[in-house]
Amino acid sequence: MDFFFVFFLFGLLIGSFLNVLVYRLKDAETLLGRSFCRKCKHQIRWYDNIPLISFVLLRGECRDCQEKISWQYPVLECVTGLLFGLVGFFFFDPLVTASYTETVWLLITISSILVVAVYDMRHMEIPMVMLFVSAFFTFLFLLETFFSFPEPFFSSRLFFGLSGGLVVSGFFFLLVWMSHETWMGFGDVWLGLLCGLIVGLPLVLPMLTLSFGIGAIVGLTLIAWGKKGMKSQMPFAPFLVFGTLLILFLPKIFPVLSQFLFV
Ligand SMILES: [Zn+2]
Repeated sequence: MDFFFVFFLFGLLIGSFLNVLVYRLKDAETLLGRSFCRKCKHQIRWYDNIPLISFVLLRGECRDCQEKISWQYPVLECVTGLLFGLVGFFFFDPLVTASYTETVWLLITISSILVVAVYDMRHMEIPMVMLFVSAFFTFLFLLETFFSFPEPFFSSRLFFGLSGGLVVSGFFFLLVWMSHETWMGFGDVWLGLLCGLIVGLPLVLPMLTLSFGIGAIVGLTLIAWGKKGMKSQMPFAPFLVFGTLLILFLPKIFPVLSQFLFV
């Protein structure tokens, strides 16, 4: 429990940076520079830039022009904080050296796929640079794991990761090709490769089931509410990312349930 809170606070800070990424990657702006209001261009004062707290104190409005601040800011900060907290709680053990690499890998992975999900919701496009960053670190982590534990290649996490990536991206490629990019786009094929690499072979099946299942429920609900028509485009990345996160955390949160689901 002790590490939940530290990781949660760290996650809030990182979440605030991820919000910046979602906007600035789109317009290829510098990632450094001070933040400014998207409408009135006023620089954000440092005390108005505190994750979560500033949004509440400002009641979700810019101090200078009263423009509404997007809900994306506090929500992404909260979600990043919670997920980082869960990593600290379930994965990080200061006494186990191997848990350090896994923790760092998980924090990088969670951050990048969250940016992919939010970016896709906002811009209907997959930010390829985040996929590359995440795939690079995931591959590095799998290699590191492979060389630290003496095990045959064909029963290693590296092998299951690579084959998981191939299965998911191959399946998505077929969907894109058969539907002429109407069901999903080529960006999703690359994201599928990454998510398959992250969760690995047997787990890609429950991961896909959860992603498509939740996607279908949300899609049908939006249609029933009249928010979307039958032909509306819906970004798929958020569901795939959600499914991947569930697979990463569910077995830790509900160890008994996962014995039935995954083994
Ligand atoms: Zn403003």
